[in-house]
This record gives sequence, C-alpha cells and structure tokens, in this order.
Amino acid sequence: MAQAGNNVIGIVELTDEYDASDQHATEAFNGLRSAFYDRLQHWVRVKDECRKMSHNRVCVLLKDIGSEGELHLAASKLQRLFKEPYDHRGAHLHFAVRAGFSLSSSANDDMALAMRQAGIALNQARTSPQIYELYSPQRTGNLHAETVLLHRMEEALENGEFQLYFQPQVHAGYNTLIGAEALLRWHTPDKEVLTPAAFIDVAEKNDIIRPLTWWVIKSAAARLARWPKELSIAVNVPPPLLLQDDIQSVVHDALDIHGVDASRLNLEVTERIMVDNQEFMLQQLHGLREIGVKIAIDDFGTGFSSLSYFRDLPVDEIKIDQSFVRAMLHSEKDHAIVKAVIDLAHNFSLKVVAEGVESQELAQRLTEMRCDILQGYAIERPLPVEVFERHYHL
Ligand code: C2E
Ligand code: CA
Ligand code: CA
Repeated sequence: MAQAGNNVIGIVELTDEYDASDQHATEAFNGLRSAFYDRLQHWVRVKDECRKMSHNRVCVLLKDIGSEGELHLAASKLQRLFKEPYDHRGAHLHFAVRAGFSLSSSANDDMALAMRQAGIALNQARTSPQIYELYSPQRTGNLHAETVLLHRMEEALENGEFQLYFQPQVHAGYNTLIGAEALLRWHTPDKEVLTPAAFIDVAEKNDIIRPLTWWVIKSAAARLARWPKELSIAVNVPPPLLLQDDIQSVVHDALDIHGVDASRLNLEVTERIMVDNQEFMLQQLHGLREIGVKIAIDDFGTGFSSLSYFRDLPVDEIKIDQSFVRAMLHSEKDHAIVKAVIDLAHNFSLKVVAEGVESQELAQRLTEMRCDILQGYAIERPLPVEVFERHYHL
C-alpha cells in the first residue's frame, strides 16, 4: 500500500493499432497523436509532470498519491478520457491507450528503477483487459528476474560490456569476403560471454532495445570507416524500432560522422515488420533507403511470407532462414523452396543470402543454385572484431 507523499511514475502509450489501409491514415494518426498528448495534459494535475518520451509515449510523474485506491481512481479517469473518440474530418478514430504505473516512495527515489517497473507494467497492460497495470513485485518470480536482467543490461551498456562479433559473408561464386553480420555478445564481469538468446527477448520487450540498437548501429558505422570501401556490415533492427521517428536520423548521423557511404550499411529486419502499421513501416523503409542504406529481410520464410513482399517491399536482399538451408540436402521440398526463393528474388533484382551454411557440400549446392551470398559455420563462426580483422588482414 502506498504511503501519503508517494509518487507514481507512469508510462502512457498510444498503441499503433489503427487502420492503415486508409490513405489519410498517416495524417489522421498524426492528429490522433497530438490529441493523445493534449488529453493527457488535461488528465494530470498542475503539480504533476508530463514528458514526451517518443512520438507515442509519454512519461508522467503523479505527485503525492496517498494510496493505491487513489491511483486506481486516477487511472479510471484516464480510461474515461480516452473513451471519447477523436474526430478527424467527420471520421471517429478510437484511442488504443495503455499505461503502466510504478509506485515509488519519494524518500528513496530511484527514478530509473521506477521507470523500468512502469515499463514492465506497461508490457502487462498490453495483454490485459484493462488499459493500465500497476507494477507489483510479488506478481511472479519471472518478473523479478526480468527486472534484474534489465538493470544488469543497463549497467552493461554503460560499462561497455557489449561487443559486436562479426560473421563473414562471402560471395558464393568467388568465395571472396563482401562483409559481415554484426552479432551482439555480452562479456559479463564474471567472464561469461552471453549470446543474444540469453538477453535479447527481454531487451526487445523493454526500452533498452533502443539505446542498445543505436549503439550497434554507431559501432558498425565506426568499424566500416576503418575497413576497405568494398566491405559492408549488416545489423539487426527489431521491428518496433522502425516505428521510431528517430531511426532515420540515428542512421544518417552515424554514417555521416564517420564519413561512411550509406550503401555499406545493411539493416536486417524480419517479416514481423508487416504485421501492423504497414503504411508507416513502408514510409520508414523508403526513408531509410533514401539515405542510401540497404534493407534485408531476415529469417525469410519463417513468418507469414507473402509473395506481395517481392512486389511491395522496398528491400535489396532476402536472407533465407537457416531451417530451410539446413534441411535442403535431405529434403526435396526444402530444396525446392530454396530454389524457388532464389529464382523469384532474382526476378525482382534482389540479392539472396543463405545463412546457416554449415558444410562445404551446402555451400557448393547453393552456389550451383545461384545463391549470391553465403554465411555460416562452414565459412566462419562469428568472431571478435580483432580476430576478424587479423584473419582478413583488415
Ligand atoms: P540472426 O539474425 O538470424 O543471426 C544468425 C544467427 O545464427 C547468429 O546467432 C549466428 O551466430 C548463427 N549462425 C550463423 N551461422 C550459423 C550456422 O552455420 N549454424 C548455426 N547453427 N548457427 C549459425 P546469434 O549470434 O546467437 O544471434 C541470434 C539472434 O539474436 C540473431 O539471429 C538475431 O535475431 C539476434 N541478434 C543478434 N545480434 C543482434 C543485435 O545486435 N540486435 C538485435 N536486435 N538482435 C540481435
Ligand atoms: Ca540477422
Ligand atoms: Ca537470420
């Protein structure tokens, strides 16, 4: 139970579930966003604080909340406030709003901790029948573990414990190095090296994915500046980050600072990008390509791969998922799928990368099938940067 004088930290989010098929959708959504911010201003009291975190997220500090009951009252008012649709040229648009709150005792204010907890509560609210959730440490042990991991990741980012490993990508026909995929590794203080499987899901569910990805992009650009001009680097960009307004400026500035040609940076995105918000996604992808970077569809074939991707998506490269590549030698069907994807991609002037190439036999077969680029253990595992550079005399 909260004591008198407690503060509440909240994150309120306007989810992007709007009908993107309407051609005025983007304009309408921009109106909805500013109405969202305006209504929040009416919700908070004069003594509270309200700060924009991104285009669709606002952080609020509610001061002197006497009890949990008082918070629930405030949150119910929030719910009522957004029940009223937004009128855009006579069309009624509904607000899909979610909020997460954390009670923080003002005597012992740890803002960063309260923000993390509010973020976790917001995640729960996304799948909850009510529009808000209050962080509760008792809820599950898992959540506690997640908060601890999140906190450790924040420290790791600050202390430089993350590293990029580089896995070579080679030209299938000539077996020459064309670049590398940058893959995250976490060197913990107790000398462990963690692969993304241990932390990326938690990172992607929380805000830390943003600074982490921006760090990856900046580090890749810095590395490119030291490598020969014909080499490229691919980085992984999770779909929600493509919805961030600042991705274009982050990418542009990272390349600009190091004077690196944009075509040498490859952003790998998965098919999940097209699940919702298609209109805005396409706009972002077009914007990024205008900067000059390349876009690749990662893990192709594992989502709801659609033939319309070949027609509509502004991409340069398809990465066939490892599962098809690995099964290809033993399964005629997988072999046929790989062949079909390569041929179709070529008809649309897209390059094809096969990943998970674990044997010379596979490399040989893929080369015969006119796959363009190979990546996998048969060529090399992901290597620490010094090893990679020594190995390839960079
Ligand atoms: P991914 O993007 O599909 O990356 C390829 C993964 O397959 C890498 O695992 C790589 O080490 C592994 N791999 C490469 N060749 C072979 C092979 O021949 N056989 C087998 N069995 N595996 C191979 P890793 O580095 O553990 O990364 C796993 C996933 O974590 C990545 O899958 C990617 O989705 C994610 N990830 C890695 N780095 C980042 C990052 O910087 N940001 C984000 N958001 N995600 C990342
Ligand atoms: Ca990838
Ligand atoms: Ca992949």
